[in-house]
Amino acid sequence: MAFKLPELRYGYDALEPYIDARTMEIHHTKHHAAYTNNLNTAIDGTKLADLTIEEILKDVSGYTAAVRNNGGGYYNHRLFWEIMSGNGGSRPEGELLKAINDTFGSFENFKLEFSTAAATRFGSGWAWLVNTGNGLKVSSTPNQDNPLMDLAEVKGTPILALDVWEHAYYLRYQNRRPEYIEAWWNVVDWKEVAKRFGR
Ligand code: MN
Repeated sequence: MAFKLPELRYGYDALEPYIDARTMEIHHTKHHAAYTNNLNTAIDGTKLADLTIEEILKDVSGYTAAVRNNGGGYYNHRLFWEIMSGNGGSRPEGELLKAINDTFGSFENFKLEFSTAAATRFGSGWAWLVNTGNGLKVSSTPNQDNPLMDLAEVKGTPILALDVWEHAYYLRYQNRRPEYIEAWWNVVDWKEVAKRFGR
């Protein structure tokens, strides 16, 4: 029961001009594909091959670095594609907006905290909005770690994810990570984020 590289529900050019088509194509067909293939290789013939990705990640500290890095890479990119859209931007509504306002004071404060987490993550990693089961939290993780992992500082279900590896932005933004982060808000699909918050 091998994991499969998911197809995107939009074209590689759908997030232009904020994320360019060439970056999207390489990111999906090379990077995400490699994480997926390497995860399958790492779990092939082991008891992990019968588990869901969530089941694997919640006990990941007990497994190999290959499972941690590629299992995270498989899951993180799948979520990343799902919470973006060419019709994104604007702001959340309803219960999610209320929870964000209650937790962070305002949507603008939340954006600032999230953008800061993304900009200040040293080296490669991710920024997250996490449903901890006891409220929302912003966090960041190194490499391909994520909040589902038992070794994460902030644990819970990630409902918003931002990839800040250089491969996610270097072609268009070079070393200007803050510019990429600012542009990315225009492609966040808040309806998809709200779905995950509601679960
Ligand atoms: Mn990536």
